[in-house]
Amino acid sequence: MEEMSNYIKTIMAEDLKEGRVSEIVTRFPPEPNAYLHIGHARAIITDFECAKAFGGKTNLRFDDTNPTKEDNEYVEAIQEDLKWLGYEPDHVFFGSDYFEATYEKALLLIRKNLAYVDDLSQEEISKYRGTLTEPGIESPWRNRSVEENLDLFQKMRQGVFKDGEKTLRAKIDMASPNINMRDPILYRILHMHHHRQKDQWCIYPMYDFAHPLQDSFEKVTHSCCSLEFDNHRVLYDWVIANCDVEHVPHQYEFGRLNITGMIMSKRYLRMLVDMKKVSGYDDPRMPTLVGLKRRGFTADAIKNFVKSTGLSRVNSTVDYAALEEALRDDLKTKALRPNAVIHPLEVVIDNYPEEKVEYLDCPNNAEVEEMGSRPIAFSKHVYIEQDDFMEEKPNKKWKRLALGVEVRLMHAYFITATSVEKDESGKVIRVHATYDPATRSGSGFDGRKPNGNIHFVEKTTALPAEFRLFGPLLIEEDDTNKDLDFIERLNPHSLTTAQGFVESFLKDTQPFDHYQFVRNGYFVTDKDSTREKLIFNRTCELKSSFKLS
Ligand code: ATP
Ligand code: MG
Repeated sequence: MEEMSNYIKTIMAEDLKEGRVSEIVTRFPPEPNAYLHIGHARAIITDFECAKAFGGKTNLRFDDTNPTKEDNEYVEAIQEDLKWLGYEPDHVFFGSDYFEATYEKALLLIRKNLAYVDDLSQEEISKYRGTLTEPGIESPWRNRSVEENLDLFQKMRQGVFKDGEKTLRAKIDMASPNINMRDPILYRILHMHHHRQKDQWCIYPMYDFAHPLQDSFEKVTHSCCSLEFDNHRVLYDWVIANCDVEHVPHQYEFGRLNITGMIMSKRYLRMLVDMKKVSGYDDPRMPTLVGLKRRGFTADAIKNFVKSTGLSRVNSTVDYAALEEALRDDLKTKALRPNAVIHPLEVVIDNYPEEKVEYLDCPNNAEVEEMGSRPIAFSKHVYIEQDDFMEEKPNKKWKRLALGVEVRLMHAYFITATSVEKDESGKVIRVHATYDPATRSGSGFDGRKPNGNIHFVEKTTALPAEFRLFGPLLIEEDDTNKDLDFIERLNPHSLTTAQGFVESFLKDTQPFDHYQFVRNGYFVTDKDSTREKLIFNRTCELKSSFKLS
């Protein structure tokens, strides 16, 4: 997949050429309150790849200025995710480490009469803020003296006031057409324990005040964020212009990445985990990076996919099928191609000797000769897929096994089904067949044409395995369900498991090993797989089951 145009790189190249900056510095600023999802990958790739293209630097900065939902678990998980994607930050910073410096800048704004302590409640502030068509109303506390403001703000820090009793606001313009400029809140009181600063602080800076300052302290040149911050940029620039900073950073926005059938809001992901609708953040159905990894997506597939979506100033929705295609592209010539039977049906080859097991040669990857070959077992008893047999050939297109019909067992012999055994319900539980010894694969036989090629696993050497097959977490939205809450739209069949068999050489498979199981799709060994209980997750099928638009 090709990398599409990237308008931020164009800006960086200009800035370097015109001497506006001497080095590119970016940062990725996740809030440590959730696991990263594939939408974040766009931000990560933008920050790291753009800087790398110009020999610049990228910091990881945990935006931990909001103490409510932050946790060390997420701090560690986010670092693991970055490592997995192959990015190493030049520095790791925590936004909360700048609390003292940020506080000093707030004092500076007060002294410049550009900030004031307000006694209005949160609700009153929202009410006074006005609307898109009506200007806001100035707070009655807006014209407090500098001395009074300094005194009150220091008292806020000392913990004299209760949560919500006071705020610090910027004094900008209550009639601004941009509502973000109508005296935005800079600090609020929260008597809360912070995961890193413990109980040192009871006032916390708001994102719009803290973020530009952090960028400046770190000498970030290009501060890239998603499009919803577009109308916060004026405030970003106001903070930078009025806080007497040494370094001037600039904000650039890019469109958010959405993928069909995936919901990526943190609230939703947390709800799925809390309500135990999934096994955790790394459930293979989750759009989190840990989930996608466990599902079998590779870091390269994710990066190639995200790069192929380009970067512009519009939000985009990309078909999930494109992500699967990126995985196939990545693994097609890398993954081994073992035989696995997911829904087994036993075939007994009546004219084959009872005790004999012979070994046939099977390429490890039919498209890559250098990957060599391995012996596969064959005997009187083999498993095939239930779907590969029907008592009666239904139509001409049916290229599989049926009574009186001959097929090739891949890399082995031609067999013809002769009879079936059924249980009381009439379900076929065993197929009897005969084989033709002259059709042994590789023996140069070039006679009649079989009715298709099907794969198999020899019974006595086969290893039992669990296969986990996935569908979308949500049922597709249509007119009948579009008003339903997403919990009611959960797909009850998003996970099915099947007990089947794999070739014996997979006994030593390790978690996160990737395979293409012949005819069945791409699979990965699950993290809970053991020698005693093999578990494979299907990453995707061999062909897209989604329509590529
Ligand atoms: P919240 O608003 O709940 O904090 P968030 O998605 O903004 O959620 P952050 O941890 O703040 O989460 O995200 C870090 C960075 O990743 C931000 O710069 C954000 O813009 C970017 N980002 C998040 N989701 C996407 C997405 N779907 N596409 C592109 N960038 C995204
Ligand atoms: Mg955010």
